[in-house]
Amino acid sequence: MVLFPTTIDDLFEQTQRYSNAQFMAGGTDLLVSLRHAPQHERTIIGLERVDELHRIEEQPDNGVSIGAAVTFSSITGNRLLKARYPLLTQAAATVGGPAIRTMASIGGNIVTASPAADSLPALYLLDARLELRSATGNRTVAIDEFILGPRRTMLQPGEIISRIILPPAVAWNLQLFEKVGRRKSLAIAVASLAAMLRLADDGTALEARFAWGSVGPTVLRCPAAEAVLTGQPLQEAVLHEAAALVREAVSPIDDIRASADYRRSVAGNLLLRLVN
Ligand SMILES: Cc1cc2nc3c(=O)[nH]c(=O)nc-3n(C[C@H](O)[C@H](O)[C@H](O)COP(=O)(O)OP(=O)(O)OC[C@H]3O[C@@H](n4cnc5c(N)ncnc54)[C@H](O)[C@@H]3O)c2cc1C
Repeated sequence: MVLFPTTIDDLFEQTQRYSNAQFMAGGTDLLVSLRHAPQHERTIIGLERVDELHRIEEQPDNGVSIGAAVTFSSITGNRLLKARYPLLTQAAATVGGPAIRTMASIGGNIVTASPAADSLPALYLLDARLELRSATGNRTVAIDEFILGPRRTMLQPGEIISRIILPPAVAWNLQLFEKVGRRKSLAIAVASLAAMLRLADDGTALEARFAWGSVGPTVLRCPAAEAVLTGQPLQEAVLHEAAALVREAVSPIDDIRASADYRRSVAGNLLLRLVN
């Protein structure tokens, strides 16, 4: 049985009535996993008709709130997000192909918590906070606390992500997302890099933040690489130095898409794209 509530109140009425129900936004991950699951009667609560979960709204502090059911195509097409958070819109534009992006939601990407999820490195750097709601209350958590490991989160039964809240990010005047896959489109990341830098007029990096996807159990930060860049001009020599530190810090695995050695090497090389 698939239910389609149209308001948050309706939705939580259904979660109380069907305590084993599963949520579905775009279904691009859920339907694939159900194909391999034992076949039995199940209840699915669709999020797609709950208007509140589809809003992108400016916040009083100049941050932005994104409803969890907002699709990646809505993110790439949103002017406010493009202007303020180009890191996120660049990452969103690399998810699957156009057909997947019209269905796949940012909330679903977060809950799946794949090490290769393209929105996660950007959301970590942007200090995203997640609003979680259930029939019994609300709470807000930082994204890096929410993700517990590969495909593991702190979400409780009956609880949804309702919004992703981004604080203002105007100071970060260079934002870049880079992804290497096995082919140009419809490719899961072999390695990805989200980078945010605050650059002075003369090109000196006043502050740097980096996060990698697909090179560890979840998003990986490398404070040592950020420190090497801080106070230095953004040039190839210093990026090579930072890349060496990254290759030591990552813990990739071999899988059907790439070897651990290749991933380690790509993780460092992606930094050089900041000047190329
Ligand atoms: C062909 C193909 C290519 C893909 N390429 C990429 C890619 O390049 N990069 C990438 O990152 N991903 C990719 N994906 C994975 C997928 O599209 C994303 O993870 C997507 O964002 C999941 O969102 P969804 O709305 O489809 O989630 P769903 O499939 O509806 O849900 C996924 C999980 O999240 C739960 N859920 C969904 N929304 C909520 C919510 N608001 N609150 C609580 N629980 C919720 C569901 O119960 C389910 O467990 C690809 C998938 C396919 C099929």
